[in-house]
Amino acid sequence: MPTPPPPHAPSVPLPDRIRACRLCAERFARTATAHRPRPVAWFRAGARLIVTGQAPGMRVHRSGRPFDDASGVRLRRWMGVDEETFWDRDRVAVVPMGFCFPGYDAKGADLPPPKVCAATWREAALSYVGAVGPRLLIGGYAQAWHLGPGRVTDRVRDWRAHAARGIWCLPHPSWRNTGWLKANPWFEAEAVPALQAAVREALA
Ligand code: SF4
Repeated sequence: MPTPPPPHAPSVPLPDRIRACRLCAERFARTATAHRPRPVAWFRAGARLIVTGQAPGMRVHRSGRPFDDASGVRLRRWMGVDEETFWDRDRVAVVPMGFCFPGYDAKGADLPPPKVCAATWREAALSYVGAVGPRLLIGGYAQAWHLGPGRVTDRVRDWRAHAARGIWCLPHPSWRNTGWLKANPWFEAEAVPALQAAVREALA
């Protein structure tokens, strides 16, 4: 019986190598939740579009499915896709800035994604998925990595210029941003229908 390759061997598919990653084990053990890494690597080569968010929350940490929460419901509505489409890895690749739930800060908000995650995996994951259609950059961490420093509101407001390059800068769909959505009704009135059209075209 041949010995299987270790999880970090180059012959192991990248999503499986990421799932085996334990680089942040000590960091997560020091958080209030003292959880273990559970990387949610949800992508396949050749997907039609890439969704990049921040990092899984606790609910996704438990379920192992990206955006399996209220934020995901709102994100799917913005994209105009149902759950079956969104979780079909051949169509939608979810490549966040951190693959694991990072824990909570003192106010109960999610900690930032560990920088080591994007430094270790991001370039490889994007190459693995390959050239795709729309890239959805959700929130400040994803937008800063791709576009450099800047304000989320400015980038979202400038959605037409970014969309011309296939990049969709979005606010985080969290309930925490409901006030932002009310203060910026143009986003759901103008940017969301255009995003839905781009997603429809990419998935057709
Ligand atoms: S957050 Fe990223 S680098 Fe850290 S353990 Fe999870 S997969 Fe590994």
